[in-house]
Amino acid sequence: MPAPAELVRDFVNTLDVECDTDELSSPAELALWLRERGLAGPLDRATDDDLATALALREALRATLRTHHDQALPVLPLRVVVDPLPRLVPVESGVRGALAMIAAAVADASWDRLKVCAEITCQWAFIDVSKNRSRSWCSMRVCGNRTKTRAYRARKQGSRRLQASNTDTV
Ligand SMILES: [Zn+2]
Repeated sequence: MPAPAELVRDFVNTLDVECDTDELSSPAELALWLRERGLAGPLDRATDDDLATALALREALRATLRTHHDQALPVLPLRVVVDPLPRLVPVESGVRGALAMIAAAVADASWDRLKVCAEITCQWAFIDVSKNRSRSWCSMRVCGNRTKTRAYRARKQGSRRLQASNTDTV
């Protein structure tokens, strides 16, 4: 099973915002995704309702991760067990139980290091491993540069406009 933070990151990233591709576009794909990660069994089938819950959970997680740059989830049945340390486990098994496990992963210590890329066209989930937790973008090379180039262009245009208006008044 993947580490909790990686599980949340990968689940959020099943929707690629930039390419508009969705790994969870049917109940069967959801069940397969959960099975591949050891969260659901081979006999677990997902329903349309399960898929709707999964997508609501995914977008709630993305929205919450967005707030980690500067701190609601659908209700899924979890209870605390102590074995020997307290942890959250799903009340149900099957697909709903598997989705509850992803929700429970937010209780992991690295939860507040999970963010979504600040570049609005990207929104890829990533784990901020920087010492001061200051990372804004999934990748400096791609999204960091993209944002900075845009800011630079805006500044340049602004100063050009300023020059133009200066000439006007002369
Ligand atoms: Zn990005």
